[in-house]
Amino acid sequence: MYTRYAHLNHVYVKVGDRVLVGQKIGTNGTANGQWYAHTHRDHPRRFPTLANGQKNWNFYCIGWSKQKVQEWFADPRKYPKALGKGFDHLGLGWLQYWDYASNSNRIPFARAKAPCFHPGLDENGKGAGNADYDAPVYCVKSGTVIHTYTGRGSNGKWGRMIVVQEDDENVKSNKKDMTQPLITELRTTLKHLLGVDFGAKLSEGEQKNIARMLTEKIDALNGKIAVVTRERDKVSEQADALERALKNAQKKDETQSLHISLSECQKLNRSLSDEIASLTAKLKHMQRTQKEQGITPEQAVALITAKDWRRAGWTLVNFAMAATVAYLSYLATDQNVAIAAAVLPVAQTLAQYVTKKVNR
Ligand SMILES: [Zn+2]
Repeated sequence: MYTRYAHLNHVYVKVGDRVLVGQKIGTNGTANGQWYAHTHRDHPRRFPTLANGQKNWNFYCIGWSKQKVQEWFADPRKYPKALGKGFDHLGLGWLQYWDYASNSNRIPFARAKAPCFHPGLDENGKGAGNADYDAPVYCVKSGTVIHTYTGRGSNGKWGRMIVVQEDDENVKSNKKDMTQPLITELRTTLKHLLGVDFGAKLSEGEQKNIARMLTEKIDALNGKIAVVTRERDKVSEQADALERALKNAQKKDETQSLHISLSECQKLNRSLSDEIASLTAKLKHMQRTQKEQGITPEQAVALITAKDWRRAGWTLVNFAMAATVAYLSYLATDQNVAIAAAVLPVAQTLAQYVTKKVNR
């Protein structure tokens, strides 16, 4: 017996992998855009062989009678749902009639161009359309992966798929082979550990019973491992989500700190602008004051020169005035030079005094 999981988006397993019930093996998909998202699962009892000797993994049952479909496919309802807890509703159910040509069930089998009794289940998750896209797909029966399609093509409307050879068949055909090595291993181990030859003490039936019990225990353990694996996947998904949230938060923080430094820059810019404005105003004021009160070098030279001339002018005037007074004293005292010489300094001082008074 085999399980076909089809229309997948992701395929997490490869040919040769052992898969256990409950193990996440892929995700729900659209068969590379050919259908609304759902997982088609069926259980072929065997695969037809092509002319080239290869198995026809993609065989389907268009035009087959209901009986023929049941001969080739096992009832899928006895297995757990591949979407697990995510399962919400079925598309086409087991042996449900459908005409793929008219995409309806209105045209009867005899007149339909592509009539079919659906050989498996079309599982959907919650919501309509592609709301359940990428939902996890779990293994419904332990076994070995014997075929996958992971490409981007139509793959005969199947899209990405996984085919698992279910354990039952293995166990049935290999039961002796599976038990015998276990018994041999047990005998060797017990002989080594306890020095007891287990084979010599127990009948063949008892040995087989022990081996069967051990096989069951191993199976139970495998089941537990599958559950734990599923839990671990859930936890790691949560961890991923948390990490993503953390990264987003950090990004937000970064943006916030960027905002802060930006506002700081703006504040600094404003205070600098204010300072520049006040300095400019001060400078303008100084320039104005300089214009009003300041003197250019040329002006200074002109001013100094004028002052000197004025001073020189007044000195000449003083001297002239004093000389005149001295000459008048000389004439008045009948050409007495001694008196004129005595009057001159006094006249000079007097002239200076008068100039000062006039200047004021
Ligand atoms: Zn289907």
